[in-house]
Amino acid sequence: MKKIIIAIDGYSATGKSTLAKGLAKKLNYIYVDSGAMYRAVALYALRNKLVSDNHQIKVHELINSLNKIDIRFVFNPQKYTSETYLNNENVEREIRTPLVSDIVSKISSIKEVRKFLVQKQREYGKEKGIVMDGRDIGTNVFPDAELKLFVITDMDVRVKRRLDELHSKGIYVTDDEVKHNLEERDYLDIHRKENPLVQAKDAIVIDTTDLDRDQQLEYVLKLINDLKLLKE
Ligand code: C5P
Repeated sequence: MKKIIIAIDGYSATGKSTLAKGLAKKLNYIYVDSGAMYRAVALYALRNKLVSDNHQIKVHELINSLNKIDIRFVFNPQKYTSETYLNNENVEREIRTPLVSDIVSKISSIKEVRKFLVQKQREYGKEKGIVMDGRDIGTNVFPDAELKLFVITDMDVRVKRRLDELHSKGIYVTDDEVKHNLEERDYLDIHRKENPLVQAKDAIVIDTTDLDRDQQLEYVLKLINDLKLLKE
């Protein structure tokens, strides 16, 4: 069977990563959460005092520190999922905290940070057989991906899904805090100069508002089959 690249883009908390993980498991592909990589850089910046109290980033210092940042994904067989490691430390939970969410879109707007991470992301895709989700995967990281999906969901559903996800990790925040953060990140991700969030011309849009995770997965697997994407 042919191996392909599946690029999944869309706004935060639309269910991209759940769909991506489901597809990777079903197809026996690698899954890469590109957002986790930006979050790991944001965490590094916070820990190394490269972010001021009013969320200003010390951009030059951060750029000069990029060579000290090692990001890896390690598969956790118990949870059947990959976890994010920053300089050999499992930071999977910490990168999801509001502190990181509040600054990550500022970090991801820095050209050099993007260049540094996009290079790593393309390495992962060299052998194909990969599902990657993010904001610029179909437009910039893998413009030749065989399947590009653009996921959209109503805001209320996004807030609920993000709250459930955070609660399951023991992180407690209010609906308003989550909504505010999602709106702010949408704005920054759409309006940044470097590879903003935009739907690729050849992407297929999926509205997941009324689809549960099994229905989403079923829909995309049928799409792959109908388009004969895995045929040699
Ligand atoms: O997907 P997630 O919400 O974890 O991504 C966190 C942030 O990382 C996004 O809000 C965005 O600013 C940035 N990001 C990006 N490009 C990607 C993936 C994520 O700019 N490919």
